[in-house]
Amino acid sequence: MYDVIVLGKGPAGIQAAVYIKRANLNVLIIGKDGGALAKTDKVGNYYGFTQISGPELLEEGYKHARALNIEMIEEEVTGLSFGLEYTVTTTQNTYQSKAVIIATGSPRATVRIPNLKELEGRGVSYCAICDAFFYRKKIVGVLGHGDYAAQEAHELVNVADEVIVFTNGLEPIGHFDPKVRFVKDRIKNVVGQDRLQGITLENDQVIELSGLFIALGSASATDLALKIGALVENNKIIVDEKKQTNVPGLFAAGDCTPGVMQIAKAVGDGCVAGLESIAYIRNLK
Ligand SMILES: Cc1cc2nc3c(=O)[nH]c(=O)nc-3n(C[C@H](O)[C@H](O)[C@H](O)COP(=O)(O)OP(=O)(O)OC[C@H]3O[C@@H](n4cnc5c(N)ncnc54)[C@H](O)[C@@H]3O)c2cc1C
Repeated sequence: MYDVIVLGKGPAGIQAAVYIKRANLNVLIIGKDGGALAKTDKVGNYYGFTQISGPELLEEGYKHARALNIEMIEEEVTGLSFGLEYTVTTTQNTYQSKAVIIATGSPRATVRIPNLKELEGRGVSYCAICDAFFYRKKIVGVLGHGDYAAQEAHELVNVADEVIVFTNGLEPIGHFDPKVRFVKDRIKNVVGQDRLQGITLENDQVIELSGLFIALGSASATDLALKIGALVENNKIIVDEKKQTNVPGLFAAGDCTPGVMQIAKAVGDGCVAGLESIAYIRNLK
């Protein structure tokens, strides 16, 4: 069991872990790739570097983590839950900790399908592990095509009568359960007024559904936050001045929280979240 698991190995995540490790706590960083910095050609506005490329700055961060012997693994996080402790699920493993910092960068834009937003919480869900039970013996859909969608579908296959995976025009690339059915046509709109009734495909075919689980791309910061009941507004995780969410022991830092999307801010957030998670752990003892 770790004291703190940091989700994301960008500037916010690494900075948080540096403080946690130096406080002699047991920390694990899980990140799936280089995040925003990997896409950044030149950085000229970050303290101490007149000019540096994003990948170079990223490597400096990794070097710092390695020098402190911080455990850092490259896996994709697909789930987050909270019982007596936090459980982080990746495509390969499950990890436990007493606190979690979400630092997985800017949540991607949500998919724009007419009527989808209106039916959130009324048939449209972002968390299979939380809501699968409500769809026992029903027909449900999962919107997505990668490992995150596969994981959500996996939670549903043993509970629902049928699980249809809507890849919205893409080829399925996740490791899907053989029991799922794929529909590759794009979704035109979501059907239902007070509750979801189904979806209409671009060819005007209507498919009746009791539930539709959104699992596009990888699990974003807000997907993970919503799974655990943390407040999300305008696609950002709501935190207080301690970078603490409304869920005890759950912190968030960097681009996934409100404010400017800059490295300096991500590092500052990581510092606060790191220090506050240390205080939280010490209070538990
Ligand atoms: C093209 C471009 C140019 C930019 N130029 C500048 C600049 O000049 N100056 C500046 O200050 N800022 C710049 N930025 C912004 C800056 O890169 C970000 O503000 C900063 O990287 C945010 O840090 P972060 O740690 O919050 O997120 P990120 O750096 O995005 O890191 C997110 C981490 O989360 C991980 N992750 C995400 N989802 C999952 C998952 N499901 N499972 C596991 N891991 C996951 C990623 O792999 C990554 O490790 C630029 C951004 C872009 C895209």
